[in-house]
Amino acid sequence: MSECIFCKIVAGELPGKKVYEDEELLAFHDIHPVAPVHLLIIPKRHIVSLVECQANDEGMLGRMLLLAPRLAREHGLDNGFRTTINTGRGGGQLVFHLHLHVFGGGTLPTHL
Ligand code: AMP
Ligand code: ZN
Repeated sequence: MSECIFCKIVAGELPGKKVYEDEELLAFHDIHPVAPVHLLIIPKRHIVSLVECQANDEGMLGRMLLLAPRLAREHGLDNGFRTTINTGRGGGQLVFHLHLHVFGGGTLPTHL
């Protein structure tokens, strides 16, 4: 059994407040939101980080990015939002299953 918490959410072994699902991607609310709306978009397939992505992940990465404005709109982020991918410990990554943060709705710091 996978020890990865995001794989467990994909498998339904851990609860997640899901907001979107298709064959390839899953999106859910971050458990510790840094803004009024804070979503995570992940591939269902376990990929550690952006470093492990290959040329054949191009389509999946594009679909992750294109899902962001759709979910932002659906969650009322009409004034804009921020997308972040933390990569590796040096990049502040804490969960080693690729994820795209989508957050907004409050006053965000100028840089993050
Ligand atoms: P990162 O630093 O980019 O790896 O961020 C990992 C994110 O996952 C953090 O914002 C956490 O709050 C979030 N997180 C950790 N565990 C869970 C969980 N069980 N459900 C939803 N979000 C989670
Ligand atoms: Zn995983």
